Amino acid sequence: MSDWKLEDFAVPEVADKDRFHDFALPLPLMHAIADLGYEYCTPIQSKTLPFALSDYDVTGQAQTGTGKTAAFLIGVLTRFWEHPLKEVPPLGCPRALILAPTRELALQIEGDAKGLTKYMDERTVCVVGGMDFQKQLDKLDKKPVDLLVATPGRLIDFLDRNKISLKHVEVLVIDEADRMLDMGFIPDVRRIVFQTPHKRTRQTFFFSATFNDDVMRLAESWTIDAEHIVIEPESVATDTVDQKFWMIGRDEKDSSLLNLLRNTDTERAIIFANRRDQTHRVVKYLQNNSIDCEALAGDVPQRKRLSTLNRFKEGSLKFLVATDVAGRGIHVDGVTHVINYELPEDPEDYVHRIGRTGRAGSTGTSISFVSEDDAFNLPPIEQYLGMKVDCTIPELPA
Ligand code: AMP
Repeated sequence: MSDWKLEDFAVPEVADKDRFHDFALPLPLMHAIADLGYEYCTPIQSKTLPFALSDYDVTGQAQTGTGKTAAFLIGVLTRFWEHPLKEVPPLGCPRALILAPTRELALQIEGDAKGLTKYMDERTVCVVGGMDFQKQLDKLDKKPVDLLVATPGRLIDFLDRNKISLKHVEVLVIDEADRMLDMGFIPDVRRIVFQTPHKRTRQTFFFSATFNDDVMRLAESWTIDAEHIVIEPESVATDTVDQKFWMIGRDEKDSSLLNLLRNTDTERAIIFANRRDQTHRVVKYLQNNSIDCEALAGDVPQRKRLSTLNRFKEGSLKFLVATDVAGRGIHVDGVTHVINYELPEDPEDYVHRIGRTGRAGSTGTSISFVSEDDAFNLPPIEQYLGMKVDCTIPELPA
């Protein structure tokens, strides 16, 4: 037993901010929170925790990067701590099910859960497509699982083979519901939800970055009297990002990018392109010019994607070239620059992209290349941001 005490985690009270200390959380959970370096609750945590800890359903309009993962995980883990199981459950019967639309997001949630359960006995298993089924099955067969993080398709595989049962699920979390909808996963999700206990006898958290009528309907059918929480979209991120727009001819983009990356200020950067083939072309060009970089796109094998992401997180790889889908939800602190090799077609993607920098209290820079090919994407971005932007000539020669 650790002799760690709450006094070892001193966080001064500050007006307008909640501390984790204010929620009477289990000591081992507080210990893990202290190790993760969290001091004050993020707004979504402050708003969610009072309801999450009182067994209420929560629907949350929030994007990744707001701390929503820890918000629901802290709720789940506190519940498990307060209501320990009297008997060892059968294999493959999780107490909490967390559904996420992409492998990357699921693996990230698994990582967060492992961080928060560092001093608890709760076990997390992640089942996602594109990775070895048997290995995931071995993990489920080894010991009971408390938290199961899954993408819908792979979970259906496990359910169809009777390797997982959702009958004992006490808490259901549906993350990024709008993306599930966009990606056509809702029929799968519906089948999955149907196999969990009735909404009256489970607690449900439902998150989505946007709430249109379709998403609203899903939220209403899967929750009961949910507390609806709205966190303003990435306002924090755009406040802490110095956004630059450079007018660049299509033929000058490559050399401008190269100069930019050779500039020593660019310590860790994500370069976004709109299509997979473009990311591979840009990576090849940069590598031919002795820049160490890798692509993060949907057609890169999963194993390679993970190793790339890990190298980027550790700092041994400075530059990533990503598509929106692959780059979404990637949380790496210390990204100094986001470079838009092309302007995205969807203004929301622009905000997601630049939100990869300027995180965790630091400031960042985004540089968007605006060329004859994509300048027409700028007015919708200005409209979404609610401001006119200044296009300047590049600060570095092409
Ligand atoms: P999420 O939106 O859940 O993906 O979280 C975004 C990032 O914020 C993750 O890297 C978390 O580790 C981090 N984070 C979550 N809660 C806090 C907190 N209270 N203080 C500082 N960082 C946090």
